[in-house]
Amino acid sequence: MTLRTYAHFIDGADAAGTSSETIRRTSPGHGGDLADFAAGTAEDLNVAVTAARRSFEEGPWREMPATDKAAILNRWGDLILENLERLAEIEAEESGKPISYAKGEIQHSVAMTRYAASLGLQLHGEAFQNVGQNALGLVSREPRGVVGMITPWNFPMVTLFQKLPYALAAGCSVVVKPSELTSGTTIEAARLGAQAGLPAGVFNVVTGTGSVVGNAMTSHPEVDMISFTGSTPVGKAIGEACARSVKRCALELGGKAANVVFADADLDAALDGVLFGIILNQGEECVGGTRLLIEESVAAEFVEKLCARAAKVRTGLPLDKTADQSALIHEGHLQKVLDYIEIGKQEGATLACGGNRITEGGLDKGFFVEPTIFTNVTPDMRIFREEIFGPVLTVTTFKTENEAVALANDTNYGLGNGLWTKDVDKAILITRRLKSGTVFVNTFLETSVQMPFGGFKQSGVGRENGIDGLLEYTEVKSAFIKL
Ligand code: NAD
Repeated sequence: MTLRTYAHFIDGADAAGTSSETIRRTSPGHGGDLADFAAGTAEDLNVAVTAARRSFEEGPWREMPATDKAAILNRWGDLILENLERLAEIEAEESGKPISYAKGEIQHSVAMTRYAASLGLQLHGEAFQNVGQNALGLVSREPRGVVGMITPWNFPMVTLFQKLPYALAAGCSVVVKPSELTSGTTIEAARLGAQAGLPAGVFNVVTGTGSVVGNAMTSHPEVDMISFTGSTPVGKAIGEACARSVKRCALELGGKAANVVFADADLDAALDGVLFGIILNQGEECVGGTRLLIEESVAAEFVEKLCARAAKVRTGLPLDKTADQSALIHEGHLQKVLDYIEIGKQEGATLACGGNRITEGGLDKGFFVEPTIFTNVTPDMRIFREEIFGPVLTVTTFKTENEAVALANDTNYGLGNGLWTKDVDKAILITRRLKSGTVFVNTFLETSVQMPFGGFKQSGVGRENGIDGLLEYTEVKSAFIKL
């Protein structure tokens, strides 16, 4: 891949910005140079917000009929798919995920764009004819205004498109600050959006660090709402910054999902689901199933089979089409995951399999870790409680349903959980008791754009996808009209 150089994207075009400094992205898979992103400044952010504000106040996007908006959003989806191979390569190389997942991620982003376009057609208010004599009550849903979006590196496209088309379908204008590690596809998407007919200023991108561009965004008085996806500590800081100016704030944060497996489950299917839950995106997955809670009577055999399957996982370079998992995002993160593996051993957990960095087979220049499984894990251990964000699974056994539910809920997070049982009554009753925004029953990480996604507890505030995902970007206005 030749070195790609990206400027910001502001007011419908590439924009150099006020600084000549750049941020170099090297491959987490092979160490080669991939891209230079502009190191944005507070002034660059201000220019983008001004363009977004102008486009919001002066149009034409906000007032454009929903049918025309939908046509543009759908055309944008077509263009993204026409560029699928190229975008998937960029996404895979920058984020370190296998190209097959990168493709799926981009296709899912287009599905969300099309869905948001169709939802926008149904956006409506209410009229009350019974509010008094010669009076009419109108409740309308207006676009929230200028929305600032801050996204992480693990799913650069999906985390953006869980927000962006919904905000656009609602009539908002947007400024995005993508992760400084994986900004390529966001800028590529912005260029394609302009080609599809998004008016200038409606979708702007300013690249750079969280401490400079992100901070300028959360404190900017002309930004009406922040929608953030990232870690819980940064989410808390962003929530505080938003509170200072009473900005709306949607937060999609970290997770520590459990896969709860009962002895009466289809254990073969559960093996697939549990393994997929730790290797997807090499464990850099907010809903990754990092805690296996399994009924004691079947635990030993299940773990033995799981380790046998884990040994067959193919770890390869990001562009290797046959890879099941690929590289962690950077060296510091590799070290963090390896440190957690050491912590697990020191805490007294049993390393059942994995636990090592992988360097053979041409992987010596990248950041690869074996799927790793710890048994005899208790809830007081850090590996049970903290987000590791690598292919590391903890195994804890239970004897009763109550114990299983208590273990699953014994976390500050609440993004997702998996549940495996053939007993339908049990599945429904336990689903009700699990404190997470999503529960996957007899499957894992499978859902639909029609279903809202978001966190309980410290996994977040607000919902994406579904009608809730659209309404996040609207403000309600009541008009009492005396006739
Ligand atoms: P991160 O919190 O470090 O960074 C996320 C974004 O915030 C980046 O763009 C970063 O530059 C920016 N940022 C950092 N400090 C900032 C500040 N002070 N002000 C404004 N912006 C700032 O997260 P990450 O390491 O990029 O991503 C991994 C995390 O994201 C994990 O915790 C994961 O669980 C979470 N995540 C959550 C979801 C979800 O939907 N809930 C999805 C994907 C990832």
